[in-house]
Amino acid sequence: MPKRRHEPIRTCVGCRQEGSRHSLIRLVRTPEGAVVVDPAGRAPGRGAYLHPTEDCVRQARRRRALERALKAAVPEPVWQELASGSADSGIFGFPASGRPGGAGEDPGPR
Ligand SMILES: [Zn+2]
Repeated sequence: MPKRRHEPIRTCVGCRQEGSRHSLIRLVRTPEGAVVVDPAGRAPGRGAYLHPTEDCVRQARRRRALERALKAAVPEPVWQELASGSADSGIFGFPASGRPGGAGEDPGPR
């Protein structure tokens, strides 16, 4: 059972600002070396975080910040997924107003 003292804080590789885990998208480099979006935030591997906004995606892409953070190439389809799903909703497959929890394995301690 996870401890919930504080919301974990992560840094967006795009704008370099901090945010809670739930406000950022996690990308992960899988053990196979592929970079994928990790909606559940639980995939094993090296992770990097990004705000789901066009600005942050663009900045991260321009500065190759994601590549540096993950030490892996980010394939074009991943950028397109980020860009197309950015801003309001859809990237995780659940509405922006909802809580992540699509995995259904964690009903939440509250
Ligand atoms: Zn950002």
